Amino acid sequence: MKSLVFAANWKMNQAPADAEAFMRTFTAQYAKQQDRRVLFFPPAVSLHVCMAAVRTRSDLECGVQNIHWEDKGAFTGETSASLARGAGARHALIGHSERRHVFGETDAETNKKVAAAVRAGITPMLCVGEKLEEREAGKTLDVCLRQLRAGFEGIDAAHVASAMVAYEPVWAIGTGKTATPADAAEVHAALRAELVRMVGERGGAVPILYGGSVNRSNVEALIAVEDVDGVLVGGASLDAEQWLAIVRS
Ligand code: PEP
Repeated sequence: MKSLVFAANWKMNQAPADAEAFMRTFTAQYAKQQDRRVLFFPPAVSLHVCMAAVRTRSDLECGVQNIHWEDKGAFTGETSASLARGAGARHALIGHSERRHVFGETDAETNKKVAAAVRAGITPMLCVGEKLEEREAGKTLDVCLRQLRAGFEGIDAAHVASAMVAYEPVWAIGTGKTATPADAAEVHAALRAELVRMVGERGGAVPILYGGSVNRSNVEALIAVEDVDGVLVGGASLDAEQWLAIVRS
């Protein structure tokens, strides 16, 4: 049985009171499952609530949705990796498509953020994925591999080997359109091969998650794909019952 990671990206949803109610329902009903980790990426203001809920659970962990690349200083409104770590975050999403395409984050910035996460002792989950026009132009693998190499450029092999990657086709995020298992298989295999090229055998164990309109109906087909080591879920992770169904699939 392969080990799986289920990650909930709540985006800009779930205020502390909502997060608390969600975590109460979830932790009451979800018993630890062998070889499964469940990660929560709440908005930063609700991180403490989620941390409190997972404190006694080794299978549940929390992270932040974004970090700044500097460790501290005059960057109003930003959260550094070390601040996030101090608040208990163990993981950080880096280069999520909304950061790249709504906020204009560049490959070079994702690289600085990966380096900052590593310095702070946070696991980066580097998100990569092509836009629809890039897929239609046959550039899917070029784009995803470029983002992968750029994000990890100059990062030592041990830290790449302990990172995570998420393949999230931009056209599938929040749209209700999911990549087919065959689409995911092609990209995940290419990402896996590149990780192995970058860091050797250890690249074979880097979790590569699929994200993009995952829900309780399509999750099983996706996690059955070789090299899909879990899912990163936005919309369907906002409802505790639906999220429970997904992590139990
Ligand atoms: C995401 O936010 O990473 C995501 C995949 O969103 P959704 O599941 O809503 O497509």
